[in-house]
Amino acid sequence: MARTTVDDAVEVLTGLRVAALTGAGVSTDSGIPDYRGPDSPPRNPMTYQQFVGDEEFRRHYWARNHVGWTHVNRSVPNAGHRALVRLEERGVLTGIITQNVDLLHEDAGSRNVIDLHGRYDRVICLSCGRVISRTHLAERLDALNPGFLESVGDVADIEIAPDADAVIESTAHFRPAPCEFCGGVLKPEIVYFGENVPRERVDRAYAMVDDADALLVAGSSLTVMSGLRFVRRVSDAGKPVVIVNRGITRGDRYATVKIDAGTTDVLAELADRLG
Ligand SMILES: [Zn+2]
Repeated sequence: MARTTVDDAVEVLTGLRVAALTGAGVSTDSGIPDYRGPDSPPRNPMTYQQFVGDEEFRRHYWARNHVGWTHVNRSVPNAGHRALVRLEERGVLTGIITQNVDLLHEDAGSRNVIDLHGRYDRVICLSCGRVISRTHLAERLDALNPGFLESVGDVADIEIAPDADAVIESTAHFRPAPCEFCGGVLKPEIVYFGENVPRERVDRAYAMVDDADALLVAGSSLTVMSGLRFVRRVSDAGKPVVIVNRGITRGDRYATVKIDAGTTDVLAELADRLG
């Protein structure tokens, strides 16, 4: 049975070099909802196969994304993100592997960050592989769909998902933009369900956890294997795993300490007491 308090976490982590694995729970206090949290509505995540295989699906996806991404773009880091910056500056934290695509760790000032599931501000062409900025794509989508954003109304009124996917109606006439170089299909540079994290990125993440003495998981229910495998790796090496998350996680059985709480306050307290 894992220990459960911040005191326990401080005792376990003191003097160790720690890698962090973060998920959606870290960004909820920045206004980005966690769709896997205990109070979240059920939601069917989009799959990679749906996106590449269905033109109508893509049309609706891009319409929603065009509304949702500006919300993510306006979000700002919270005290939890800033606590991880302090721990890195002090040499306690060696780096962050994040499942979030919102770039709030980078915005806060964290230097060594692996964006495991990609980043919302880039778009990739599935045919020629060119990467363009989401800001540039927004200008093209606005030109193709004059009046669309105005017709949708205030972004605060619609459901915003962590991948900048906002649920709205009447997107049937939205015109997605093809790649301007080759005409191919554009896709956010985000890892979707049914898609693998690029091998090179996984290897860098393994190297980060192998180099550390312990793993701190914050705000992830570890539902997908892409995150859980790092917890197993650290546990198998006999190193401590500290999990801070509201609700149960798939990694709880590997945890040395499991704190059932929101991440913002706990990370701030850890930053005050470690290093
Ligand atoms: Zn292209």
